[in-house]
Amino acid sequence: MLSVRPLSSSSSRHKNPAKVAHRRVLTIFDDPTTATFAQRSQFESTSPDPRIAVLRTVDQVRAWTADVCKPSSSSSRPTASEGEQQEKHDAGVALIPTMGALHQGHLDLIRAAARAGHDKIVVSIYVNPAQFGVSEDLDSYPKTWDADCAALAALRPELENTLRQRHGGQETGVGKSSSSSSASQQEEGASPALQMAIFAPTTPEMYPSGFPGQEPDSAGSFVTITPVGAALEGKTRPTFFRGVATVCMKLFNIVLPARVFFGQKDIQQTVVIRQMVRDFRLPLDVVVAPTTREEPDGLALSSRNVYLGPRRRAVAPVLVRALRAGAAAYDAGHAGGRGRAVAAEEIIPAALSVLLETLGEQSRRPPDEGVAFELDYIALRDPDTFEEVQEVDPRKGAILCGAIKMLPVFKAQEGEDLGEAGGPPVRLIDNIILPPRPEE
Ligand code: AMP
Repeated sequence: MLSVRPLSSSSSRHKNPAKVAHRRVLTIFDDPTTATFAQRSQFESTSPDPRIAVLRTVDQVRAWTADVCKPSSSSSRPTASEGEQQEKHDAGVALIPTMGALHQGHLDLIRAAARAGHDKIVVSIYVNPAQFGVSEDLDSYPKTWDADCAALAALRPELENTLRQRHGGQETGVGKSSSSSSASQQEEGASPALQMAIFAPTTPEMYPSGFPGQEPDSAGSFVTITPVGAALEGKTRPTFFRGVATVCMKLFNIVLPARVFFGQKDIQQTVVIRQMVRDFRLPLDVVVAPTTREEPDGLALSSRNVYLGPRRRAVAPVLVRALRAGAAAYDAGHAGGRGRAVAAEEIIPAALSVLLETLGEQSRRPPDEGVAFELDYIALRDPDTFEEVQEVDPRKGAILCGAIKMLPVFKAQEGEDLGEAGGPPVRLIDNIILPPRPEE
């Protein structure tokens, strides 16, 4: 693991009261150890769109899914064909687990669910304390309930159009998407009404025996997926994947989805979830949707980007630039012929040099202009097992992933917007798929 610090980091946080004040911060959860915690609610229970149900308890989810998932006669037959099985999956509930503070990356996962034919979509919004370390940003994690509800309400017409097209109907013109190709040539068919729900549980609802704590040795009911959960992100955040796997297992058991949708941005998380689904024989499909990026610089969208502020935001794309340089080295490695294995030593240094160059440039700037970051890792991993790869097997390809920590600015300019919560350290992760390049 590499760690490079060009500038000394300041421990003082530069608060920007205006920014903090204008943001509506709702009490999602308080210190899970306090006595009053159990009585407090995580979110307001209403959504501005009455067509989107807000479910707070397991019983409410069960009632909602029982209501919307009436068993179809064809899919319940024991001898259902492969096509019927597929139909059953398309007709089942889609679950998109999130921690809220929704952005286009989250919305793209919901769009993917509609494109896959799901007309029953549950978006869970739950900031799961078990996946935060004791010293992590649990309390300051962005909470934007009203904006989240508004984003889902605004997305609804587009999802309805997607479903209508899929069922052979016409677009209404609202939120037209590019996948409308053959819809207009088909006869109008009966398109099922979209049923959407937000599942926003309380922590006592999610942890009925009591919240077990955030310490690595906390006792309680946990799901642990190793070795994948212990590497890279798991090294820096030892309880993170335990928290993720545990909460996802709970969500899957509560919602009983046919498909779950996750983002490629958190690639190690997708490998953990896939392994959990495989090893615990969970009857659902895991779909991984591509990373949504900001234009034009390619920064991966993240709920935590609001903490960056303009100065650090301008430098943050260094991570994706580094990964792209690594991918270019992989491509160049094939210049000698497709089917050639490319060594990690050809790929990783190309990525590192972009990071080091940028660190050098930033360190030569005055303290009230420069930006500092620490490199956590640049790593090459097997796409299925996430094991370290020394040489990329051209039949398989690999994942090039990285993490950096943007440090608080060393010296603020007068009136400078340092980002939400005064511009704390922000950890950025990203990855790029190095595709298979078999011999032709
Ligand atoms: P979070 O709310 O950060 O826990 O993320 C919820 C889901 O959204 C996870 O499956 C993430 O991988 C996914 N996600 C977050 N950011 C992006 C992004 N930029 N592109 C695609 N998916 C994302």
